[in-house]
Amino acid sequence: MTLVAELGQALSSGDRRALSKAITLVESSREDDRVAAGELLSLLAAGTTAKRTFRIGVTGVPGAGKSTLIDALGLRALSTGRRVAVLAVDPSSRQSGGSVLGDKTRMTRLSAAPAAFVRPSPTLGVLGGTAGRTQEVILLCEAAGFDVVLVETVGVGQSEEQVASMVDCLLLVLLAGAGDELSSMKRGVLEAADLIAFNKADGERVALVESEAASLRASLTISRGHSVPPVLVVSAQSDFGVQQLWDTLLQQHAQAEQLGTLKARRAKQQQDWFEAALTEALQQALLHRPDLVALRAAAALGVQRGATSPWEAAQRLLAQLLPRPR
Ligand code: GDP
Repeated sequence: MTLVAELGQALSSGDRRALSKAITLVESSREDDRVAAGELLSLLAAGTTAKRTFRIGVTGVPGAGKSTLIDALGLRALSTGRRVAVLAVDPSSRQSGGSVLGDKTRMTRLSAAPAAFVRPSPTLGVLGGTAGRTQEVILLCEAAGFDVVLVETVGVGQSEEQVASMVDCLLLVLLAGAGDELSSMKRGVLEAADLIAFNKADGERVALVESEAASLRASLTISRGHSVPPVLVVSAQSDFGVQQLWDTLLQQHAQAEQLGTLKARRAKQQQDWFEAALTEALQQALLHRPDLVALRAAAALGVQRGATSPWEAAQRLLAQLLPRPR
């Protein structure tokens, strides 16, 4: 049996070390690892298509209580016999090498549970440039028998939109009294959210949280018309509202399954993933051509001198690299 086949078998039997190893493999950018990862994924794909899994994205500003809430939701899922994987997608890690998500002690109860798998991996922040790595990791988790996959991301920048494009349901965690938080948060996140939870409804904050939730409901009714997402009020710390949130998530999922919208959403995501992977593959194939280096340097010089416009230079370079279509 090949190494990849062995890894696939161990992973399918739910072996967590095999899962970790497989994740490291798909995250690797080494050429031979990419080939092995491709083999592994096609090997696993055959077994995973029929599985019913639930992919949940969780986004919100740092400090909103995402990890605490995921811990609480994850325990709910575990108590119903589900196996839970949590993936942290950290958009900051590419630039800083550090991480917003990785350093703190997170999800302590879930991390200790044998039926849960928490991967606070800063290297998961390879979104964008590397099409589909996180999707691949989701597939690996599902193949290893995890039927609920929670993908956490900091709601700053683009990462939440990317996460929205790989999950069945996007949960936005908000804080009341954060003032500018909503206005500074891109309108897009509010539009993309399937479910919104105001967290930290405990102690003296309850009334404030309730009233902000009510005003958001009202404004979403105006902006989103018929597709207003539920706006719930929870406290991840005291567990208030967490059961209702979990039930709502399950209801939404069941409904999407029944209506066929879940299937359509995943099909669309597969197609988008293919398009992104194709773009990346084309780019890689062309950018790594040895003859490109000299041509590119010459073109860049022409652009710097103002002899050619950047657009024209790019077009000419492409024409030199690709055979003319007949
Ligand atoms: P994240 O950055 O969004 O993952 O937020 P964390 O889950 O790390 O929580 C940030 C801080 O808020 C931590 O100190 C938590 O203990 C606290 N926290 C989280 N949820 C609640 C809550 O429901 N109520 C209160 N009062 N504090 C909370």
